[in-house]
Amino acid sequence: MEKGLISVDRWAEGSQAYFLTNLHTDHTQGLSSTWAMAPIFCSRVTAKLFPFKFPNFNLSLLRVLDLGSWHSLSLISPSTGSKVTVQVMAIDAYHCPGAVMFLFRGEFGCMLNTGDFRWEKNCERAKLAKEMLLNALKDDAVDVLYLDNTYCNPTFQFPTREVAAKQVADIISSHPDHDIVVGIDTLGKEDLLLHISNALNVKLKILKERHPTRENRRSSSSRLGTILPNTRFLGLVFLPCSGPS
Ligand SMILES: [Zn+2]
Repeated sequence: MEKGLISVDRWAEGSQAYFLTNLHTDHTQGLSSTWAMAPIFCSRVTAKLFPFKFPNFNLSLLRVLDLGSWHSLSLISPSTGSKVTVQVMAIDAYHCPGAVMFLFRGEFGCMLNTGDFRWEKNCERAKLAKEMLLNALKDDAVDVLYLDNTYCNPTFQFPTREVAAKQVADIISSHPDHDIVVGIDTLGKEDLLLHISNALNVKLKILKERHPTRENRRSSSSRLGTILPNTRFLGLVFLPCSGPS
């Protein structure tokens, strides 16, 4: 694809449309509340979370892409000045809330930018996302692939989210007299918190800033976010940390 048309998770000058795969900090370096360069395309959930990450952001600059639908953009070729049509589809990346991949189609062919993603073999959401991608491609192939391969190395042997959540719940239940502090980033790990809450039948106290995220999850539970005075889960401390979510 010609330079000067689009940027994905890159916030330097010189593009006509910008795309955000997810709101994790490593994807928003250079983006700020005062952004005014061009529209930003993202998922509906990411758009909802935007003001919490970037207070006073001009929300009229956000363009929501619903999952699985092609969206057409009219851009101008910087080299020839002629009109260029780019089609884009957002596909669930099953990473943090709102995270998507972007599939682009145009004269340049088919380009897939995965952003951060977690497509576990037996995960229903990942299966649906894969179907969505294959349906969108039909008989086409991906010509250009931007693959985030941060953890794509045999030295990283992560369990599935489900297994990891069970391990955490097991550790907690084997220490009944301990206070529990779960260190998490500003976005992600919501499913883990819900699993702990459901598996151990406990209420979790979360910080107020966390609530907007919770409201965007279909799996939200009334337990999460409720403060119970006697719970030993008094502090969910929100520590900056990195790693897969
Ligand atoms: Zn991420």
